[in-house]
Amino acid sequence: MKLRLDGKVALVGGASRGIGLAIAKTLAAEGCTVVLSARGQEGLDAAVIEVGRAAWGHAADLSDPEDCERLVAAVQARLGRLDVLVANAGSGASVAPGRETPDEWRRVMELNLFTATNLIGAARPLLAREGGGAIVCVSSICGREALGAPVTYSAAKAALDATINGLSRPFAAEGIRINGVAPGNILFPGGTWDRKSAENPEAVAAMLARDVPQGVLGRPEDVADAVAFLASPRAGFVTGAVLVVDGGQTRT
Ligand code: NAP
Repeated sequence: MKLRLDGKVALVGGASRGIGLAIAKTLAAEGCTVVLSARGQEGLDAAVIEVGRAAWGHAADLSDPEDCERLVAAVQARLGRLDVLVANAGSGASVAPGRETPDEWRRVMELNLFTATNLIGAARPLLAREGGGAIVCVSSICGREALGAPVTYSAAKAALDATINGLSRPFAAEGIRINGVAPGNILFPGGTWDRKSAENPEAVAAMLARDVPQGVLGRPEDVADAVAFLASPRAGFVTGAVLVVDGGQTRT
């Protein structure tokens, strides 16, 4: 199936490593001009080289609404349009369930929810002006079921899912589709599951045997392919949905 993404302009927030980098590479391979964003300039520069063809980087802290406005203004000035927005920044690192503090709630909400809502708010006028576009947010299965993950993270991703569903209605009137992808356990060098596998391989193997019907950790490319589909005109009648990519781990 050809995704018909050729010639589109895509902005990926949280793109310097891991899942975001895989998304940027996949969209570039599908013919998009890809703008990568993250806070760290060094990681961003390396990622731009890795993505190659038609990619450039713009450093921004997406938890800052003004940084998001500046980022989108730069895309508009340099490329004149925006067709695809991917809100991927986030992290599940937080305190154990029951150990939440007001500061930790604020930090995790900013990172996992407000980076997306800030980016969506800044990009909406440009997406609408160009006759519509597609937004894909990277959520998590932790937002759907109590899997033992930090409560702050699970609540932030559940709120992100509700945002996707709620915004799909007003955005449809502007020709904008908004969807999400909820990954399960994704393995890549330097990522959470790489660290857990090195620290306690027996525990990871036991978790996979017990909780994941397919019995394996996912790859960033598994998530990236789902994002590319939802971002493409091939998903033209799909909005407000969250696609689970977890090897069968969740039951709902
Ligand atoms: P990661 O390796 O920590 O990468 C996160 C990316 O976001 C980096 O490029 C990071 O670069 C950027 N970032 C972080 N905070 C930012 C901010 N405030 N502003 C702009 N960019 C920021 O994360 P990942 O594991 O690939 O996860 C990506 C997404 O998938 C997250 O939303 C995560 O919740 C979700 N997810 C991951 C897994 C998994 O198993 N890995 C499972 C389910 C869901 P800088 O640090 O330079 O800013």
